[in-house]
Amino acid sequence: MSSWTLQPVGRIESCFKEKFAIPRQPGLCPSAEATLHLLPPYDQADAVRGLEQFSHVWLSFVFHETASQGWRPTVRPPKLGGNQRIGVFATRSTFRPNPIGLSVARLRGIETQGGVRLLLAGADLLDGTPILDIKPYLAYSDALPEASNGYADDGSAPMPVRFSPEAEQALAGIALRRPGLRQLIIEVLAQDPRPGYAEDAAREYGMTLYEYNVRWRCDAEGAWVSSVQAA
Ligand code: SAH
Repeated sequence: MSSWTLQPVGRIESCFKEKFAIPRQPGLCPSAEATLHLLPPYDQADAVRGLEQFSHVWLSFVFHETASQGWRPTVRPPKLGGNQRIGVFATRSTFRPNPIGLSVARLRGIETQGGVRLLLAGADLLDGTPILDIKPYLAYSDALPEASNGYADDGSAPMPVRFSPEAEQALAGIALRRPGLRQLIIEVLAQDPRPGYAEDAAREYGMTLYEYNVRWRCDAEGAWVSSVQAA
């Protein structure tokens, strides 16, 4: 069979600066903002003419951070607690023969001055992700509410999130610069980003959102954010 060399049409600038704590699918964290910068020679207003009529876009992209790790025929999806093996093609795992991802994102706007930028929300993409293609999302064809989701069905309740007084104070101080950060932290932690395998229950975790380090841990009541500090 033939093989193809693909060149990215754009690059993602995302609030998610590391893989840990990125939601496992798009749409789960609607406050997560990203900007898709088109790369030359695709960075022309003509190439996106008409796209502003659509509320959502499909993005295909390269799992560039994990691509070098290759693939295996089976993977352990976090949805199954990380201890049951499923065929790679029955999962949305990043470790695939062709490391290509597919995500839908809300299109907040398009800027065409000094380059072309798509303003996005709800994407599950790491900062720097190379984008292979952009297509309008067509609800009448792409949305299939009757579809069955097998083991990936989401029955889990969102994890409640609380903030320490110090974290609240820090968030109040950066509210002008990052008004959506508090809500984004709630949405990210509601998904319980802890790895599937068992770990020290009292462990403190750190994640980077925009230019801030967020520290948090879990207790019987949910997630508790201890601090928010400039990264
Ligand atoms: N919606 C996509 C991605 C699902 S996997 C699809 O179905 O194809 C989601 C995970 O991909 C996230 O939790 C994040 O950790 C990881 N991810 C996002 N961007 C990535 C990148 N550029 N390289 C490697 N992993 C990435």
